[in-house]
Amino acid sequence: MKLTVDLKENSYDIIIEKGLISRIGKEVKKVFSGNKIFILTDKNVDKFYGENLETNLIKEGFKVKKLILNPGEETKSFNTLPFIYNELLDFKITRSDLIITLGGGVIGDLGGFVASTFLRGIDFIQFPTSLLAQVDSSVGGKVGVDLEKGKNLVGSFYHPKAVFIDPNVLNTLSDRFFNDGMAEVIKYGLIKDKKLFYKLKSYENKEEVINNIEKIIHNCCTIKKIVVEKDEKDKGERMLLNFGHTIGHAIEQYFNYKKYTHGEGVAIGMFEITKISEELKLTNKGTSEEIKDLLIKYNLPYKMDIDISEILSTIALDKKNLDNNLNVILLKEIGESYIYKTNVEFFRQ
Ligand code: NAD
Repeated sequence: MKLTVDLKENSYDIIIEKGLISRIGKEVKKVFSGNKIFILTDKNVDKFYGENLETNLIKEGFKVKKLILNPGEETKSFNTLPFIYNELLDFKITRSDLIITLGGGVIGDLGGFVASTFLRGIDFIQFPTSLLAQVDSSVGGKVGVDLEKGKNLVGSFYHPKAVFIDPNVLNTLSDRFFNDGMAEVIKYGLIKDKKLFYKLKSYENKEEVINNIEKIIHNCCTIKKIVVEKDEKDKGERMLLNFGHTIGHAIEQYFNYKKYTHGEGVAIGMFEITKISEELKLTNKGTSEEIKDLLIKYNLPYKMDIDISEILSTIALDKKNLDNNLNVILLKEIGESYIYKTNVEFFRQ
């Protein structure tokens, strides 16, 4: 399956295909005519796919260097950058060479930011390996790193030359991170695609989900692509993708990113904000119950285990809160979302 993200001179293809990794060299050749490739990956992913990717590229005649970083959010730090830039310099990467990010959202965001800044920008390709990265972070061009004071505080919009998605690599992903990605899949259903939501509800078990995973990924990437094409720089429609994220980010941060993964935070955020909006008659009655049932089915949390007052100050510091005007994303009903202008008091209901 192929999709094209249409952004004029920044357009690129997303290819979704089981087993794609074994013929990756040929696909890379279609979008890159240079000689040197720098692969950025993490230890967990390298163990399973590093060698496969590397040998495939070498077979096609590319000169390859692979850098393996520690897994986890700590790696997506501003402080990791000088080390990577140095490795790129040692390998004598020039502006006509390429970076491939092989990993989850951490490696994709970090490697994309490196590509956007090194020598004022060199080409890169995303090879996302977590479900979250395959349905969300690899598409749309948001790249960046964390500062000690918070996540994603330094970054840019910088699009890859291509996104290569091989759903087979999800077989080695832990159940926790698989479900984590499912939270974002559920989000797409809730904000834009009622049919997707009810399909997710109809699947009996993980095996059935995996059997349909190519279609699910295609569905999510299509939604993201359409939203990004309309609003590349996140000033309007793209904000809908933040459904569940205001509360979600705040909870993640409250527990220092130790207790909940990103998807788990978003799951709680989607349920809790819909409960509030339902009480305010801004959302059709019964919607939060339906969300809750689906989250339980995918082993995701839905209920906040702290008092909302604990995270109000974090919400007030959110990038989306300007002069106490806060844009929150609400559902009208399942499959339909909108931007609602309010302030932090909204959460005190
Ligand atoms: P991650 O990159 O840490 O991956 C999760 C874990 O799974 C890691 O331990 C990783 O090593 C492992 N892993 C990944 N693929 C694997 C595979 N195929 N087999 C075995 N293990 C595998 O985290 P993530 O959840 O993919 O991404 C989270 C990051 O994405 C956050 O930093 C978040 O800010 C960012 N993000 C960015 C965007 C965007 O638009 N750029 C959107 C959403 C999230």
